[in-house]
Amino acid sequence: MKLLEGKTALITGASRGIGRGIALKFAEHGANIAFTYLSSVEKGQALEKELETFGIKAKGYRSDAADFKAAEDLTNAVISDFSAIDILVNNAGITRDTLLMRMTEQQWDEVINANLKSVFNLTKAVTKPMLKQRKGSIINMSSVVGVKGNAGQANYAASKAGIIGFTKSVALELGSRNIRSNAIAPGFIETEMTGALDPKVVEQWRENIPLKRGGTPEDIANATVFLASDMSTYITGQVISVCGGMLT
Ligand code: NAP
Repeated sequence: MKLLEGKTALITGASRGIGRGIALKFAEHGANIAFTYLSSVEKGQALEKELETFGIKAKGYRSDAADFKAAEDLTNAVISDFSAIDILVNNAGITRDTLLMRMTEQQWDEVINANLKSVFNLTKAVTKPMLKQRKGSIINMSSVVGVKGNAGQANYAASKAGIIGFTKSVALELGSRNIRSNAIAPGFIETEMTGALDPKVVEQWRENIPLKRGGTPEDIANATVFLASDMSTYITGQVISVCGGMLT
């Protein structure tokens, strides 16, 4: 059964990792897909071609999610190309890990802008078309770290906790307009972002997860399909942990 047939999704940061996994799973479920990337231009162009093989409409845009004006321009371009935005997945994110003692103002600002301000930028931009359509599903990629904190990630954890407060506030403001807003809190998902970690640390993470493995982009994509689809029409303002039980 195709759960997203006839819907158009905008996914930020889909050139790699979780965002790419979400784009492929959404295409499998029949959604038309607009997606963004920033530095991985070739990977973005290759993904556009790969998505088209599912028989859906797909287009990649080079756009910085941290830039307010760029988010507005992107939304206008997507509406002009696709005529609608039914689903927004705020997935783009970065890390600049270090202990607070060593953290620079730049490392703080970069993470807050790419991870949290981006969610404000895109959500604000899509609100207008979603209000007009009187429907929409917004899905924000938080993290278990935003719920419980993590040494060496004060900037990242703050950005991901901020996303949760934002998600719930938007759900309260826009529920009456049939616009839903939920967050996903992935645990340890094996992508390029986590590939930078020491293999010993990775083994330790795996050992501490009740399901005894790191997650895959597909694990996150499956939960995202659920929140994007009409299977979840009575769910808003929630944070779903997809973490192999890590947060239990
Ligand atoms: P990743 O492999 O590093 O990929 C990040 C993606 O975000 C890339 O496509 C990148 O595009 C894009 N991006 C970064 N900054 C951007 C910007 N300013 N504008 C537009 N796109 C931007 O990361 P991932 O592991 O897939 O993580 C995806 C999301 O899940 C992030 O929000 C992350 O915080 C969250 N998350 C990940 C984990 C995990 O264990 N992996 C756990 C919890 C939460 P370019 O390559 O083109 O720059």
